[in-house]
Amino acid sequence: MRLVLVGPPGAGKGTQAQYIASNLSIPKISTGDIFRANVSGGTDLGKLAKTFMDRGDLVPDEVTIAMVRDRLSEDDAQDGFLLDGFPRNVAQAEILRDMLKDWGLELDLVLELVVDDDEVVRRLAGRRTCSQCGRIWHVEFDDKKDDKCDACGGALFQRDDDKEETVRHRLEVYQEQTAPLVSYYVDEGILVGVDATGPVEEVTQRAMEAIRPYLG
Ligand code: ADP
Ligand code: ADP
Repeated sequence: MRLVLVGPPGAGKGTQAQYIASNLSIPKISTGDIFRANVSGGTDLGKLAKTFMDRGDLVPDEVTIAMVRDRLSEDDAQDGFLLDGFPRNVAQAEILRDMLKDWGLELDLVLELVVDDDEVVRRLAGRRTCSQCGRIWHVEFDDKKDDKCDACGGALFQRDDDKEETVRHRLEVYQEQTAPLVSYYVDEGILVGVDATGPVEEVTQRAMEAIRPYLG
C-alpha cells in the first residue's frame, strides 16, 4: 500500500500516521520528523531546514525531494509506505509521481483529513511532542498535567513553530501551496476525504474503512 496523508497543520496527520502505518505494517515517513531530527542532530540539512521551519515556510523543493527520494529507496519502503507531510505542493506531487513511475510504481490512495480552522488552531496550541519517542500528545485532550510522556516517560516539548504567530503563517502557506493538492489528487482519481473530527480512535476507524477497498 502506497499512501499519502494530506490536511492542514494540526489536522492529526502525525497522530493518525502512527496508527495507520502500524495497522498496515508499512513505514511512516514524516518529512517534518526527518527535518526535526536533522535540526537536533545539527546536520547541514538541519541547519538549512531550520531557517525555513522557524518562519513556518516550506523547505525548498529540491532539498525536500532529495531527502524523500533517499528515504523511499531504503529497504523497508519497498513494499509500501505512508507519507505524512509530503507532498506539500503540486510540484512535489508531480515529482513524486514521476519518481514512482521510474520505479514502475504509483500511489494507491491519498487520504485528506478534514477539520475546520478553529479545531486546527485548538489542536496546534496544545500540541506537545515527546523528546524521546516522538509520540504526539495534547495538553487538554490527553489531560497532560505533567510534562512527561505516558508511553516512555520522556520529557514533552512544544514545537517552536507552534507559537501563535508562526501558526497563522503556516495556515496561510497551507491554503496557498498545499490545498491545491486536493484538486490535483481528485483529478488523479485517488483522493478520499475523511472526517477528522472526534476522538482519535474514531478517526483511525474511518481512515481504515476508507483504505479497506484499496487493499490488495
Ligand atoms: P505539521 O505536522 O504541523 O503539518 P510538519 O511536521 O509536517 O508540520 O512540518 C513542519 C515543517 O517542516 C513545515 O512547516 C516545513 O517548514 C517543513 N516541511 C515538512 N514537510 C515539508 C515538505 N514536504 N516540503 C517542504 N517543507 C516541509
Ligand atoms: P499534524 O501532523 O496534522 O500537524 P498532529 O497529529 O500533530 O497533526 O496533531 C495536532 C495536535 O492535535 C496534537 O496535539 C494531537 O495530540 C491532537 N490531535 C490529533 N488528533 C486529534 C483528535 N482526533 N482529537 C483531538 N486532538 C487530536
